[in-house]
Amino acid sequence: SPIPDYLAEALQSVESDTTGATADYIPELADADPDLLAAAFCTEDGRLYSQGDVDVAFSIQSISKPFVYALALADRGFDEVLGKISVEPSGDAFNDMSLEEGTGRPRNPMINAGAIATHTLAGRRGADPKDRIERIIDGLSAFAGRPLDVDEAVYESEIATAYRNRALANMLRANGIIDEDPLIAVSGYTRQCSVRVTVEDLALMAATLANRGVNPRTGAPVVPAPAVRQTLSVMATCGMYDGAGDWMTRVGIPAKSGVSGGLIGALPGQAGLATFSPRLDDHGNSVRGVDLFQRFTSDMGMHLMEVP
Ligand code: GLN
Repeated sequence: SPIPDYLAEALQSVESDTTGATADYIPELADADPDLLAAAFCTEDGRLYSQGDVDVAFSIQSISKPFVYALALADRGFDEVLGKISVEPSGDAFNDMSLEEGTGRPRNPMINAGAIATHTLAGRRGADPKDRIERIIDGLSAFAGRPLDVDEAVYESEIATAYRNRALANMLRANGIIDEDPLIAVSGYTRQCSVRVTVEDLALMAATLANRGVNPRTGAPVVPAPAVRQTLSVMATCGMYDGAGDWMTRVGIPAKSGVSGGLIGALPGQAGLATFSPRLDDHGNSVRGVDLFQRFTSDMGMHLMEVP
């Protein structure tokens, strides 16, 4: 296959770009090696290609959000989830403090307010928080096709300084969007964000979304097709936060970024793509990741608004 050479060449073309900076509000992420660089593709039939620092594990961070949203939709149904979390792009930063006027719902499940609410909707209603986080880690593992675990150092580092997320959770509780102790919601959400993955795991997780919710390597059905359609739609409109419009025009596929430097994209019926490069732009999206994705979709004619 020409794909490995193509990937190696693409990585080389962005290698010298050192713009952006690692996330500094989570101490453990601030210390990440900023030069790490990797990319992976997984096709709908489960062929996996990767290049660069493919063995380096990092915390999934906000890339967990679409997957947990899909799990919540699968577990609780659309009515319950949409009743608590809207699906409008906010045009605001990922940690924005505002809720929808009138309803008090978070504007979408990709910003932190919406993701904390989504976290509380995964699993059985009334399940205890330990079972819920287990359900979430098992679900993320099913998307990846192997057992994933939590990076405790990242968890401790983030939870110790999670003042803003605690404020968001308190706001959700005050508005009746969550009905539990806000600290428990933030603790669970932070564990969810601390799940450790490699770029290959991310490509496979994205490929599972691209493949109607069925993991293309294990064959396991992870979430039903309607939940996948909903999730990909929200990724397309809100996955890149206040950079979402720029992303959709330049790159043109549903995507999600995370502050540790990961980035995924899913092209329905075709492939899952992932990159890893820790330096971020002002939106909190990976600088070299965005460049790589722009290159991938234009070289391969993947932009959804373009007739192949
Ligand atoms: N755990 C991070 C937070 O809540 C996730 C943010 C992100 O990856 N954009 O702040």
